[in-house]
Amino acid sequence: IKWTEGRGWHDAELVPYAPLSMDPANMTLHYAQTIFEGLKAYKQPDGTVATFRPQANAERFQASARRMAMPELPAELFIEACDALIKQDRAWVPDSGEASLYLRPFMFASEVGLGVRPANEFLFIVIASPAGAYFPGGVQPVSVWLSEDYVRAVKGGTGAAKTGGNYAASLVAQAQAASHGCDQVVWLDAVEHRWIEEMGGMNLYFVYGDRIVTPELTGSLLPGITRDSLLTIARDLGYTAEEGRITTEDWKRDNENGTLTEVFACGTAAVITPVGSVKSERANWTQGDGLPGEVTMKLRKALLDLQTGHTADAHGWMHPLG
Ligand code: PMP
Repeated sequence: IKWTEGRGWHDAELVPYAPLSMDPANMTLHYAQTIFEGLKAYKQPDGTVATFRPQANAERFQASARRMAMPELPAELFIEACDALIKQDRAWVPDSGEASLYLRPFMFASEVGLGVRPANEFLFIVIASPAGAYFPGGVQPVSVWLSEDYVRAVKGGTGAAKTGGNYAASLVAQAQAASHGCDQVVWLDAVEHRWIEEMGGMNLYFVYGDRIVTPELTGSLLPGITRDSLLTIARDLGYTAEEGRITTEDWKRDNENGTLTEVFACGTAAVITPVGSVKSERANWTQGDGLPGEVTMKLRKALLDLQTGHTADAHGWMHPLG
């Protein structure tokens, strides 16, 4: 779907996957006015297909657009575009289990020009790819690196938007994590470098017995849809679920004294991933016994059962396509 100043959204089309040709002076290539989303379509037990909370993705896409001075795509159009692609690619929706069809809606400036200003032309596209189970051989805890040299987002910045530049800026920290033998980066706040924010592509949860806590939305972390869903699912299962503030010192101390029983990360791609060990320039510890925890695995199952249609959709989160 195209957007042009003065004309709005126009010329929606469904076309076979193919490369785009682009002018070298395309504004996105220079100034990164670009946003994206990620969501999954799951085969349901009766053979139909459904997406999980596409309205929430559509609304986050609008919030990202506002932050990046881009036009807001109406939520109905966002969902209609995803639905049309899934229907076209129905044969690519995997049959069962945790496998899904991953959808990547995105929008970028399609105008040509070298002046720095909001563009007047944009292109919204959705592409899809089958995604296997994130852990085909069983859930494996990840090791994390606490990034003290780099920050992902600052107050007033673009941290709460799903925009390409955030990810580009994070790559050097991801490489640093890998050089220390860690799978993922944990981002800390930009001012004191001690408040836990989120992971590279996932939000974090801290399990204190039957109370689970996730870092509050400070404006510099992405409001994850999985994070939001788990606040509700955890309460449904009888846990206390809340937003709070946790420092790296709290994490280390509460792990040592045994009150912090589990830590996990959550997001569309991995659903829920246990955190097994933590490293930084100054510290190195095993989270709990380093194995996937009971609460983590219970929440993982509850969320996947809902997404794959094995439990009732009590909150009206599933969007059936027939
Ligand atoms: N934080 C970041 C930086 C992300 O890229 C993602 C993935 N979209 C998340 C958190 C998790 O968000 P969601 O649960 O909506 O996938």
